[in-house]
Amino acid sequence: MSLSTSLDGYTVWFVTGSQGLYGEETLRQVAEQSREVVEGLSGLPVRVEWKPVLTDSESIRRLALDANSDDSVIGVVAWMHTFSPAKMWIAGLDALQKPLLHLHTQANVELPWAEIDFDFMNLNQAAHGDREFGYIQTRLGVARKTVVGHVSNPLVREQIEQWQRAAAGWQAARTLKLARFGDNMRFVAVTEGDKTEAELRFGVQVNTWGVNELADAVSAASDSAIDALVAEYEELYDVQDELRAGGDRHQSLRDGAAIEIGLRSFLEAGGFGAFTTSFEDLGALKQLPGLAVQRLMAEGYGFGAEGDWKTAILVRVANVMGAGLPGGASLMEDYTYDLVEGDEKILGAHMLEVSPSLTTQKPLLEIHPLGIGGKEDPVRLVFTADPGPAVVVAMSDLRDRFRLTANVVENVEAPDLPKLPVGRAVWKPQPDFATSAACWLISGAAHHTVMTTAVGIEVFRDFAEMAKTELVVIEDGTTVRSFQNELRWNQAYWRLAQGL
Ligand code: MN
Repeated sequence: MSLSTSLDGYTVWFVTGSQGLYGEETLRQVAEQSREVVEGLSGLPVRVEWKPVLTDSESIRRLALDANSDDSVIGVVAWMHTFSPAKMWIAGLDALQKPLLHLHTQANVELPWAEIDFDFMNLNQAAHGDREFGYIQTRLGVARKTVVGHVSNPLVREQIEQWQRAAAGWQAARTLKLARFGDNMRFVAVTEGDKTEAELRFGVQVNTWGVNELADAVSAASDSAIDALVAEYEELYDVQDELRAGGDRHQSLRDGAAIEIGLRSFLEAGGFGAFTTSFEDLGALKQLPGLAVQRLMAEGYGFGAEGDWKTAILVRVANVMGAGLPGGASLMEDYTYDLVEGDEKILGAHMLEVSPSLTTQKPLLEIHPLGIGGKEDPVRLVFTADPGPAVVVAMSDLRDRFRLTANVVENVEAPDLPKLPVGRAVWKPQPDFATSAACWLISGAAHHTVMTTAVGIEVFRDFAEMAKTELVVIEDGTTVRSFQNELRWNQAYWRLAQGL
């Protein structure tokens, strides 16, 4: 089955809290106005579905259990239009396992000052109904996002969309199966991690297959399937002459196509949404997978090189979070710096595996030698990521927990790089190069990241809240001193928050 990265099949439920005290007429108005609020949320990337107004503990608990059991429901939005005594919410909030957004809104924008009577006050009292709800969420320690304002306000819609995208990423993690071909690069520390803990925290199943099982799938690729894929390459990319039909190295392109066909069939057969490779463990594969990995990442798969399954998770999650938006998500590696004072830049790339979803230009399809891995020269797409805002995020295993470290960056125009035959990006980090790099290092963040140009940092903040996982962000306003303090405080907080 081919992988879905779309948000179309998902829904979030909109629940409105009230109580029986107000009588039928008021509750009818509550229902009517909450429907209008939901209509005001139409057009968001994930459909918002109105649910009947909740007025007692049992119906609230039942709704939470129903939301938990429905795989298409990726979150719940709650609003207390009137006063909903919050002890009614204890059992439901305690049972709810889906992400929660507390929407602090009201039906009207302006107050009709000359008309206000006490019926109006009884109907439109989210200002204190939601405070009661906030109290019980905080008392129960419920992870949630709180959004304030009328639904006609674009900033309110934007925050709800960010949360929806994070919830979709969270759902993708909870259902993700990740295939590792071979183990981690020998002796490397930061790509290691606790795979059992990852399944508990993120829901991701991380398991390893012998690379020759992949090689068997590659050798099963038919000539006709290879012909069709090579034709697709020639359509989509500027293919180097020697790789084209009749060219000296055309067989290498066919070998690259066979790798893509085999890899795809293996992933689809196993229901995998992410994978890793290892250049030290290629078995009977003729080339280190480059082109195939690049194209699969651009389709929505997660990928990490050198066995890096933690980054592969992030690439898959970021691909889902950015579904339908311009830009994309890719494995990225901080490689080398331009240290011209005041204009410092980072050049990021990888041996081969950078997703062409980072560019709107037509990539070049080329073949070049690869110094490591001991295999034939691999085919790869060559391009530079488009200028524009981006975020890089890394995941480290700190033994007692996972830490996400993020940097808000700006991809910039790259100078010509005629001799660098890989996909790459050139960026300037916030708040400045020295602060960014110093914070990154003291955070213990990896050299591998996911770079996304589709979603911003708020989506990752929402994701981390859902995943109950530490996220530290390096951005404008960050200082090394404040960041170092945050790490120290977090160390205490997360150890307490996760219990014994
Ligand atoms: Mn690497």
